[in-house]
Amino acid sequence: MRIGIYGGTFNPIHIGHTSLAQSLIEQRLVDEVWLMVSPQNPMKQPSADDYQHRINMANLATQGMPHIRVSDFERNLPLPSYTITTLNTLSTTYPQHQFTLIIGADNWQRFPQWYHADEIISRYHLLIYRRPGYNIEPQSLPPTAHIVDTPLYDVSSTDIRNHKKQKMISPDVRRYIKTHHLYSY
Ligand code: ATP
Repeated sequence: MRIGIYGGTFNPIHIGHTSLAQSLIEQRLVDEVWLMVSPQNPMKQPSADDYQHRINMANLATQGMPHIRVSDFERNLPLPSYTITTLNTLSTTYPQHQFTLIIGADNWQRFPQWYHADEIISRYHLLIYRRPGYNIEPQSLPPTAHIVDTPLYDVSSTDIRNHKKQKMISPDVRRYIKTHHLYSY
């Protein structure tokens, strides 16, 4: 199967994330999307508890979305988890699948600085989704990379953590946040 790898901290997961994943599946660009929840939140010290909450919320938000899977694959990889290491280890673990990297136009601009960026481009397909304010010239892309059109939602996890845009998370996630008093709720 063609698996799209969509990485992030998902702290917490919101409608921007799930709609993007669903859109790629509906457009048949990949067969499944695996949400690769990063164990390390660069903004703060990683904690196992925080990681499990983010995994649990991602599972709640994607219930009833059979082609989206939440993955804790990076839990067992060395930190910091480099994308190339994740992709190569996935390819070895699941030789029957073909892995495609899903990244935003914002990340694509910084991509040359990524660890082993050339190896990623030469070994894997990339789907680059649009982000407001980041324009990409299609002719500047390597043959393995393609721009995709997906719905744009004006929301970030930062908004949710700052008690804004509550309607942009699933009701189950909202309930989970309140029950566990996350983000000072
Ligand atoms: P934060 O506000 O904590 O920085 P975030 O909302 O950007 O978080 P991440 O966990 O960093 O969420 O998301 C993973 C990826 O999802 C990012 O690389 C980003 O490009 C993308 N993303 C974030 N918000 C949206 C959105 N509203 N629509 C589409 N993609 C998004």
